[in-house]
Amino acid sequence: MKMYQSLLTVCTAGLLASCTTLEEVGDKVAGGEDGDRIRNVIVMIGDGMGPQQVGLLDSYIRYSSNPVLDSSAFDRMASEGVVGIARTESNQVLVVDSAASATQFASGKMAGSEMIGADFRGNRAESMLEVAQGKGMAVGLVSDTRLTHATPAAYAAHQQHRSLENEIAVEMLETGADVMLSGGIRHWLPQGVNEEGSALRQEIEALTGGTIRLTSRRQDDRNLLAEAREAGYDLSFNRSDLAASHGDRLLGLYAYSGMLDGIAHTQAGDGAERIQPSLTEMTSKALSVLEKDEDGFFLMVEGGQIDWAAHNNDAGTMLHEMIKFSDAIDVVLDWMKGRDDTLLVVSADHETGGFGFAYSRNDLPEGQPLDGDIFQGDDYKPNWNFGRVETLDRLYDQALSYDGIFSQFDSLEESQQTPENLRMIVNANTQFPITLAQARRVLETELNVYYVEDHGTLSAERFPLMHERKAFYVYGSGIRKNILASVVAEQSNVVWASDNHSSTPVYLFAMGPDDTTDAFKGILHTTEWAREIIDVLD
Ligand code: MG
Ligand code: ZN
Repeated sequence: MKMYQSLLTVCTAGLLASCTTLEEVGDKVAGGEDGDRIRNVIVMIGDGMGPQQVGLLDSYIRYSSNPVLDSSAFDRMASEGVVGIARTESNQVLVVDSAASATQFASGKMAGSEMIGADFRGNRAESMLEVAQGKGMAVGLVSDTRLTHATPAAYAAHQQHRSLENEIAVEMLETGADVMLSGGIRHWLPQGVNEEGSALRQEIEALTGGTIRLTSRRQDDRNLLAEAREAGYDLSFNRSDLAASHGDRLLGLYAYSGMLDGIAHTQAGDGAERIQPSLTEMTSKALSVLEKDEDGFFLMVEGGQIDWAAHNNDAGTMLHEMIKFSDAIDVVLDWMKGRDDTLLVVSADHETGGFGFAYSRNDLPEGQPLDGDIFQGDDYKPNWNFGRVETLDRLYDQALSYDGIFSQFDSLEESQQTPENLRMIVNANTQFPITLAQARRVLETELNVYYVEDHGTLSAERFPLMHERKAFYVYGSGIRKNILASVVAEQSNVVWASDNHSSTPVYLFAMGPDDTTDAFKGILHTTEWAREIIDVLD
């Protein structure tokens, strides 16, 4: 009866074309043999995943001497589903941030920069997760960043600014998605946990198992973990607890801030010593819990650190992030096999970094005699270095992310933070060795006073000397990573436009019954594909 009522609502809401005959109506109501009623909606977002990032994975799979994947989930989506293109800009600006973008594709409404769950006028914008919840569906959020970070937050919170993560945590708990699995425990802990040796700290250490750094970022004594348990959540803080959890409401927080980056994730593999669940494990656990709801479910899964690697201009880590995200999509595609009641949409909030391979005048190719009838043994010699495919294996073989490289460097005593030591760390962990002069270049700075994005505070940072486009490097000392990327570019042919986002339109993949995926073909704005989903849910 309930299904019949909701179908009537759909028909009267103006989608008469989709229920023209009585038989079709009957099938939809019964979920009949054709079974074309959409029961479940899954959205998967690669943060910062422009076409270039998808292309990097594609090139790696095609041209690596020994690729770890035979094909990508994006290939699978493109051959079994439909491909469209999504414009991403937010209200009255050319470039979008992850908060505005997630708000737009969660709610279908245009947002202002850095807003969470609000339209550009500042009104609460209901998300598709909240729409689904209102229909009695189970709902879930999975991310490898922080639960309160922009992308998941925009589905379950409404705040003026993305940086209000303490408020976002409280609101996410109130929204009460059935499954929430991610990092970022720091916004869920009472501030009293910061007091070494306190009873509260010991209690939370015992609860979390001692594997996560317990530093609270909260300004109050709210223990959101305890509040979640009272609200009926089964809490988990590591991989084995997640595997063992049996409730139908799960809150899992597996890291102080972000979860393992792509390279650390690859290195940890499937070994028993890996403490955090992988993105694929969180995704399949979420599916197994949510699929029990007879009203169907909505799930958003984010590969959130593609963006973080790209902000660092760290192409090797970004490749590992793309593999991580592709693996998570594969889990969903395998789960969907043989089902015709589920719509899967895979897209991105924006491209990050203005990434690409470019040709250069460095290390030019040697002339080679060619036998072909036009050459007949004459030398073939292109003018430029168009980028050698071996570069893909060298990128994959990076052993430590740029974040890891610089945190190792910063953990040295100040007197040891020398160009020599930076060179040593870089050359031990990447396949693009730098010279001492280049290490010096990375560490060269000048004092630069500027306004940070967060509420207009005046801030002073040491910026690299002689950097012509420093206005496009907004993340302070993080710029060392961007300079490292630029000094190895002559070996890698990898170039980047900035340390932040570009306006490049992104891919939009959809899979499910044809009558629902057709709407995702073409060039759509993020708000438009969101409204298609909201129509399906309604
Ligand atoms: Mg994100
Ligand atoms: Zn970003």
